[in-house]
Amino acid sequence: MAQEQESDMPSTHEVFNQPPALAGYDVAADPAMLDALRREGAGWAEDGIGELGRLAGSAQAAEWGRQANEHPPVLRTHDRFGHRIDEVEFHPAWHELMTVAVRHGLHATPWRETRPGAHVARAAGFYVWGTADAGHCCPISMTYAVVPALRHAPELADRFEPLLAAREYDFGLRTPGSKRGLLAGMSMTEKQGGSDIRANTTRAVPAGDGSYVLTGHKWFTSAPMGDLFMVLAQASGGLSCFLLPRVLPDGSRNGMRLQRLKDKLGNRSNASAEVEYDEAAAWLVGEEGRGVRTIIEMVNMTRLDCVLGTATGMRTGITLAAHHAAHRTAFGRKLADQPLMANVLADLAIESEATTLAALRLAGATDRAARGDEQEAAFRRLALAVTKYWACKRAPAHAAEALECLGGNGYVEESGMPRLYREAPLSSIWEGSGNVAALDALRALTRQPETADAFFAELDQAAGADRRLDQAIARLRKEVSDPAEERARYLAEAMALALQGALLVRHGHPAVADAFAVSRLGDDAAWGRAYGTLPSGTDTASIVSRATPKILS
Ligand SMILES: Cc1cc2nc3c(=O)[nH]c(=O)nc-3n(C[C@H](O)[C@H](O)[C@H](O)COP(=O)(O)OP(=O)(O)OC[C@H]3O[C@@H](n4cnc5c(N)ncnc54)[C@H](O)[C@@H]3O)c2cc1C
Repeated sequence: MAQEQESDMPSTHEVFNQPPALAGYDVAADPAMLDALRREGAGWAEDGIGELGRLAGSAQAAEWGRQANEHPPVLRTHDRFGHRIDEVEFHPAWHELMTVAVRHGLHATPWRETRPGAHVARAAGFYVWGTADAGHCCPISMTYAVVPALRHAPELADRFEPLLAAREYDFGLRTPGSKRGLLAGMSMTEKQGGSDIRANTTRAVPAGDGSYVLTGHKWFTSAPMGDLFMVLAQASGGLSCFLLPRVLPDGSRNGMRLQRLKDKLGNRSNASAEVEYDEAAAWLVGEEGRGVRTIIEMVNMTRLDCVLGTATGMRTGITLAAHHAAHRTAFGRKLADQPLMANVLADLAIESEATTLAALRLAGATDRAARGDEQEAAFRRLALAVTKYWACKRAPAHAAEALECLGGNGYVEESGMPRLYREAPLSSIWEGSGNVAALDALRALTRQPETADAFFAELDQAAGADRRLDQAIARLRKEVSDPAEERARYLAEAMALALQGALLVRHGHPAVADAFAVSRLGDDAAWGRAYGTLPSGTDTASIVSRATPKILS
């Protein structure tokens, strides 16, 4: 009956000049990513990344992402009889996203795969699959990141690493040893101290059997349905790192109470909880008093994922924008052919490619550092801090501009742009907010001179290839001699730009490298403060075509 009424309605207009839905494209058909994948030693992973790319660009994955965000997790503190259960319920789409991520080893490939390039392969997969939804990448990232810190307790690592690395997504609160695969989280931030974790007040007291009892709270603990958490607490020897299971070996629930879930700006598919530890059992990881040193190994891995996730967001934004502009006509021409829109799109594409190159170069450094390359470890220390600062800082403006390319459609939820925009500030906040990341870079610069040597050695490999880059590097060498605290952002930005420029000049597409250098580097950099201010003569057509998705037939 309803159908009859619908067909009886007179047609008021024809729908035209709207782009086709962007579904059925290959996210991994990304030339900057693919070149970097091969260059950084993971060409062997290309087929798997391609498979993930086609899935990430499918209508199915987009629908999972939409549903997981439109039906955010719900906290169930008690069962109907009043017993505490502290469980979080997720939409089935969340579980589909998690299943794909775990099946493709995005949480663990390098801990199972001994081939050189394993961290790069994982990074590329993480970058590609994150297009479907950013929120579920949080537990995936933390599970990847926990292993180096956990190895400070070899017997715990022996017990749990095989399960953390298993390619089985096994949701639910059961004793870790009985599960087919485990997920990990991180619990540092308290009400009175986030960046300043030494202000933590959660207490840890020896239980007498080698374990500890933790009492206190955490203000942010994401993915609280994980199996194991790295937690900071004050022991008699000082701030220490502990591994805390949600379910104890005897099957009973540990004293980890979920008080509330945060009502967040974005990242809505993922749960982030306020937690209380009520005499929760935990095992020491590393030595008492060395908690920061231990957990920083986990943080350092998740910082890489902040950069990768930002690169994903930028690539998604420019892809959606370029797709729209390729199909929408205004004032007699396709938007993509309007010179000023081409300028905006090219500027967004340049930023995206520069971030992708830096992210995968850092993944390569992670891989080589993990295999004992000290020069790469020193390079990574400083390069990651400056890139975490700058790339993440660029994300919100990038998302806003990409959104605007769709005009009013971009402001509407179903375009996917509002989700991208809400997510954009997050990577700059967690794992070291902007100032903290910039100050961390300054600390490396001043206290670990070998990191500056390795960083400049990387830049020097591009010497002589581009006048603007040479100028930027020469200026940077002078600037770093004044590492005053209030200059930390300025220096981090200059270093990150020089690194992106050096990578593009050596490895990037010539039009992208040239436009980056002319706009962002050199004494006479010709660039306004908004995107879309590249100088005349820029080869915008070549640049934009690299970002325009091709729908698979
Ligand atoms: C969605 C979400 C999920 C999260 N999940 C987790 C989680 O799973 N586990 C966890 O432990 N934490 C988590 N966090 C917490 C997050 O890591 C912290 O919010 C972050 O580290 C900043 O700490 P803070 O909020 O206490 O801010 P503060 O430390 O109070 O910082 C406030 C501001 O001051 C600046 N600042 C701090 N120190 C200095 C300084 N010396 N000089 C200049 N400026 C400074 C910071 O850059 C920031 O801009 C999450 C946060 C969010 C938003």
